[in-house]
Amino acid sequence: MSGADLDPTTPVVIRRGPSPVMPLTGPLIDGFGRIHTDLRVSVTDRCNLRCVYCMPEEGMVFSAREDVLTFGELLRVARVAHGLGVRTVRLTGGEPLVRRGIVDFVKDLAHLGFDDIAMTTNAMDLARLAGPLAKAGLTRVNVSCDSLKEDRFAAIRRRGDLATVLAAMDAADQEGLGPVKVNVVVLAGVNDDEVLDFAAFARQSGRVVRFIEFMPLDGDHSWTPSRVVASAAILERIDRVWPLERVTSAHEIAPAVRYRFRDGGGEIGVIATVTQPFCGTCDRLRLTADGHIRNCLFAEDETPLRDLMRAGCDDPAIERAIRRAVWEKKAGRGSDDLTLLRPRRSMSMIGG
Ligand code: SAM
Ligand code: SF4
Ligand code: SF4
Repeated sequence: MSGADLDPTTPVVIRRGPSPVMPLTGPLIDGFGRIHTDLRVSVTDRCNLRCVYCMPEEGMVFSAREDVLTFGELLRVARVAHGLGVRTVRLTGGEPLVRRGIVDFVKDLAHLGFDDIAMTTNAMDLARLAGPLAKAGLTRVNVSCDSLKEDRFAAIRRRGDLATVLAAMDAADQEGLGPVKVNVVVLAGVNDDEVLDFAAFARQSGRVVRFIEFMPLDGDHSWTPSRVVASAAILERIDRVWPLERVTSAHEIAPAVRYRFRDGGGEIGVIATVTQPFCGTCDRLRLTADGHIRNCLFAEDETPLRDLMRAGCDDPAIERAIRRAVWEKKAGRGSDDLTLLRPRRSMSMIGG
């Protein structure tokens, strides 16, 4: 593979769209012309693990229960978003499977008619819930798993164990929630020696392993640039052993840039938000568990829908608030020059 092929960059849109005025009809468009069709819904900021790159080991402060949107409120926002052209939903958190009632929520969500309802999970409770979730209408899962070595897995995630997660991936595949995508946050000097092991795992299992760059969204505030392993370096390492070719075109809307093994052995992906962000085609908006719309992972400003809803607003008011939130999205990473700044909230509070 040539150096250019290894470059996961997608173009960054830097011009404002044709109209300086926010449209009140049509798709959810931002000021740069990006149309938003993907909604990430954080159903809780709580979690049963404490991954080093996400939460502090002790002392994490969670939202008060009354501040978290009820399933009815989450559903209402999803319904309005669907009416605004949102086609796909991803449930996340915190850990979505720790919220009681999640299966019924998926069932209700499925009735709204989205093209795809996915979930990102740490999979600690997935073996038990994969069947009910699939029956309720969940289409697929991404499972986070940062090491294939038991002791290292435990050290990174601080709680939980590898065997449970591997068994859950099998259960998800069997229940039709596959092929499971496997999210690996690569940390320099911690698990970056497992890149080839994970590539081999992708080849053996048929699962798509996605290598994610460590972002400054950790609750510990331990992120430094030196702890990031660039996606380009990961691709080079794999390509030397199993030659790769890029699947994703430069203009495709995708969080991960996809590569396949040239010998037909499967696929991997990279999420290069730190070294080569893909904001130019970003089509996502987020709803936090406490009811705020975020137009970017790194956004500083949020739109509070919970207070609006609890004050008795009608659906058109929610529509306008969502439109405004999307319209005000910056070029990328929460800014107009793509500067990477740590937002106030960490990953588990935003919904990754
Ligand atoms: N609890 C679920 C899980 O771990 O899959 C879903 C929520 S988690 C916040 C969503 C994704 O964000 C996971 O794949 C996780 O590995 C990733 N993540 C968390 N903190 C991160 C960070 N600082 N940098 C990059 N990815 C991160
Ligand atoms: Fe929990 Fe997921 Fe954050 Fe790990 S990455 S602490 S599993 S929310
Ligand atoms: Fe979208 Fe923000 Fe992520 Fe860029 S950093 S891809 S704009 S959410």
